[in-house]
Amino acid sequence: MHKRFPMGPLPEDLHRKLLNLTTNTKTAGAADAEKVDVKSSFNGETIGTVLSGTVEDVEYAFELARAAQQKWAQTPIEQRQEIFRAFHDRVLDNRELLMDIVQLETGKNRASALDEVMDVAINARYYANNVGKLIGEKKRPGALPIATRSVEQHIPKGVVGQITPWNYPLALGISDAIPALLAGNGVVAKPDSNTPFSCLIAVLFLYESGLPRDLMQVVTGSGTVVGSAIADRCDYLMFTGSTKTGRILGRQVGERLIGYSAELGGKNPLIIAKDADLDLVMREITSACFSNSGQLCVSIERIYVEEPVYTEVVNRMKVAVEAMKIGSGFNWDIDMGSLINQTQLDTVSRFVDEAREHGARVLAGGKARPDLGPYFYEPTVLVDVPAGTPVLSDEVFGPVVYIEKVASLEEAVEKANGTSYGLNASVFAAPETGRKIASQIEAGGVGINDGYAASWATVSVPLGGMKQSGMGRRHGPDGLLKYTEIRNVAEQRFISMRGPAVISRKVYADAMVTALKLGKKLRFLP
Ligand code: NAP
Repeated sequence: MHKRFPMGPLPEDLHRKLLNLTTNTKTAGAADAEKVDVKSSFNGETIGTVLSGTVEDVEYAFELARAAQQKWAQTPIEQRQEIFRAFHDRVLDNRELLMDIVQLETGKNRASALDEVMDVAINARYYANNVGKLIGEKKRPGALPIATRSVEQHIPKGVVGQITPWNYPLALGISDAIPALLAGNGVVAKPDSNTPFSCLIAVLFLYESGLPRDLMQVVTGSGTVVGSAIADRCDYLMFTGSTKTGRILGRQVGERLIGYSAELGGKNPLIIAKDADLDLVMREITSACFSNSGQLCVSIERIYVEEPVYTEVVNRMKVAVEAMKIGSGFNWDIDMGSLINQTQLDTVSRFVDEAREHGARVLAGGKARPDLGPYFYEPTVLVDVPAGTPVLSDEVFGPVVYIEKVASLEEAVEKANGTSYGLNASVFAAPETGRKIASQIEAGGVGINDGYAASWATVSVPLGGMKQSGMGRRHGPDGLLKYTEIRNVAEQRFISMRGPAVISRKVYADAMVTALKLGKKLRFLP
């Protein structure tokens, strides 16, 4: 049974165990490596240290992971599945410890930390249950019926590189690695410098669940050194982070012609139709906008409300947001925690101050709360935001949302689609209206009568960004198959593809044309 942490540093034995899991501690330069403090966002105090990585650390990580991957690729699927099923149980059984570490590092509230634990468990379950079906050899119709025997094979890419941000460090640090590993790959991961321990504790659980040593390497350090060195060496890159970094890495891996999945930023809209159940809206809307203090890629930052219900929505939103309890600590009754650090606090403050200067009205919140901790900021709702204000189109990635009145649902859809992003969207409406609107939204995920949780947690369906919000998908079959190469093995039997030697080319050509026409008509060709 996990005994609750105090708010201070990680217990010494756990800290040592996690630190020793990093590749950094195993290389020749370990003794001289620079130490980096990892601070708690709740109070700015150091909770542990990690080593600042070098290109040599990354090189060694790939060496170890490649050697382990060779054996792992030969391991029967059933054995791989068992490891991840055991991991699933270990994660759920140790949820209190996981949530404590995640909260300490990020300053988020307990409910947002639980989302991370759940995400890891459901991805482990889904991919463990489905990997056999997804990568098992499949017979396909051959070029010539009966004479060509064709099979589709999926083989691992090799060693997958993974670079992740700080906002969901446990979920993003491990959930995308699960399908990569199950598909037979090794992984070299770089967690964000703010939050390495949330990823490391999950890797510890993977090893304790039976994952072969060395298969998943974690190198701590900066993006420009460690992240870039990973992109230079991996066989596939899985990146989650800002659109700006996504572009830099896209150029880097494009040069190497390797596969790339990028889960990037968003400016997610929520539409409230006049036939929406407003009680339901009010139950869901604060978590849709302010989970993890709005530092969530799928978080809502824009609300478009049909005119007949606009005033009621605005009035009720003010009451709902002002009733939110913000604070630090591990208790479940806190609705919103801290921002991650000073940079985030500065960014959020700047967006709100600029909006005020442009003439926007602050309906709720609108200020930092140093009385609660160094990086706290109130959940903030803006109305009457004039055109041209940056908050209208730029991602804040914080607890700031604005509400805008629209004359029709057509206008709402046009505005919802009117940014360069296309990650997540939400519609509150009567079911039929909701489905109609959803089909017109340019976003990789759309929730009807839900903010983001339903589409995020439906791991059987691929999820990701349209437009500048990303490329590639996580979840669903695509979330695993992207980590494989496809081999098309076609075995020709009885007759050559060029025809029997005894028949002239012309006769064979005519016979083939007749066969093609017949094949199409009688549908015996694929
Ligand atoms: P970021 O600056 O892009 O950082 C993300 C990761 O990339 C960090 O580990 C960072 O390392 C590393 N990095 C930075 N520059 C790099 C470079 N030149 N080469 C290689 N790696 C590099 O993102 P952020 O601002 O911290 O995170 C917030 C953003 O992520 C938001 O835009 C949010 O919408 C997006 N996000 C998207 C999703 C999604 O699923 N679509 C999920 C979560 C977050 P260090 O910082 O440690 O140096």
